[in-house]
Amino acid sequence: MRMAVERFDTIIVGAGLSGLMAARRLVDEGLHVSIVERESVAGGRLATWQAGSDRADIGAQFFTVRTPEFQAVVEQWLAMGWVVEWSRGWSDGLSLESQPDGHPRYIAAEGFAALARELSAGLPVRFSTQLDVISVDDGGWIAATTEGRRIAGRSLILTPPVPQSLALLRAGGVAIPDEQRAILDDIRYGACLCGVFTVDGETTLPEPGALQRPDHSISWIADNRRKGLFASGHATLTIQVNPETSAARWGEADTEVLTWMATELEPWLAPGAQLHPITLKRWPNAIPLGLYPARYLMLEAPAPLLLAGDAFNGPRVEGAVLSGWAAADALLRSLYS
Ligand SMILES: Cc1cc2nc3c(=O)[nH]c(=O)nc-3n(C[C@H](O)[C@H](O)[C@H](O)COP(=O)(O)OP(=O)(O)OC[C@H]3O[C@@H](n4cnc5c(N)ncnc54)[C@H](O)[C@@H]3O)c2cc1C
Repeated sequence: MRMAVERFDTIIVGAGLSGLMAARRLVDEGLHVSIVERESVAGGRLATWQAGSDRADIGAQFFTVRTPEFQAVVEQWLAMGWVVEWSRGWSDGLSLESQPDGHPRYIAAEGFAALARELSAGLPVRFSTQLDVISVDDGGWIAATTEGRRIAGRSLILTPPVPQSLALLRAGGVAIPDEQRAILDDIRYGACLCGVFTVDGETTLPEPGALQRPDHSISWIADNRRKGLFASGHATLTIQVNPETSAARWGEADTEVLTWMATELEPWLAPGAQLHPITLKRWPNAIPLGLYPARYLMLEAPAPLLLAGDAFNGPRVEGAVLSGWAAADALLRSLYS
């Protein structure tokens, strides 16, 4: 027996930052929205490892503000206590001093997963629901889940990494005009291997407890305790590997990668300190390496279809927020014009 189709004004694929921002805007305007998320929690690339009350951010680590629009959003998050300023610059590891440049770096006060949880509160998210196919039906969109459920929308916003959004459309035979398709097909993502370690003893990480070295294979080391995310008292380190080295080491077993990371961490341990590997998170699509030259892409026929996310003019937290917001605004303009 075929399952009944549920009908919505808008289907949003993905409860990462872009999808959540778009959903909030549309729900506030009274639209009947369904957000479909394959994971069991909101956030996408905002993620926090947790064991008991110990936490470590394993996706985004901090964010900057480059536009007045995002500043206005961040002011609200600051007022809610969801985010706090952590630093105005990092050490690059060569000098042990942090190098302030005047620009605030914000973190989520309880970890980035908690920020996503706050942003998703009250929104109609279907968790643990993976979409496999998007197709056209009756002048609208049909999204089919892995279990064969079908959800209909008069409009659709796709926020997964671009290759995944294109695969959903391709599976349902949805065509995108050649000009836009050529740009989207070129958008690739860099991978990131991200390790978590606890330390019995002290680290020698410079203030404020992190260092950033984009040109080094270990591009980021941060002590989550010094971010305020600790309970049991020991340092909990997040280590991220740059895209080139992540690709080169992707085929290695987790234990092999963690052993290599531990060797790289040794210079940052105080005498006698002991490292304990906890977990390795693999992000195949961590950061877009190419960008679509606008905050979203909107196609009007046969019904509104928008692609959004951090590949749309901003490969970072700010870009994802502004893209989701701009996509929702564009959809509202088209519905009410
Ligand atoms: C390791 C790492 C470190 C980073 N560090 C920083 C940093 O320090 N500062 C910064 O500004 N940015 C950082 N970023 C980038 C930042 O996290 C992203 O730009 C932002 O979170 C992207 O949000 P998004 O909504 O565009 O995409 P995503 O967060 O990827 O959201 C897409 C959502 O779609 C869901 N989805 C995908 N396919 C399907 C499907 N078929 N069906 C249902 N759901 C689906 C996914 O599960 C996901 O939840 C980092 C990213 C990573 C991975």
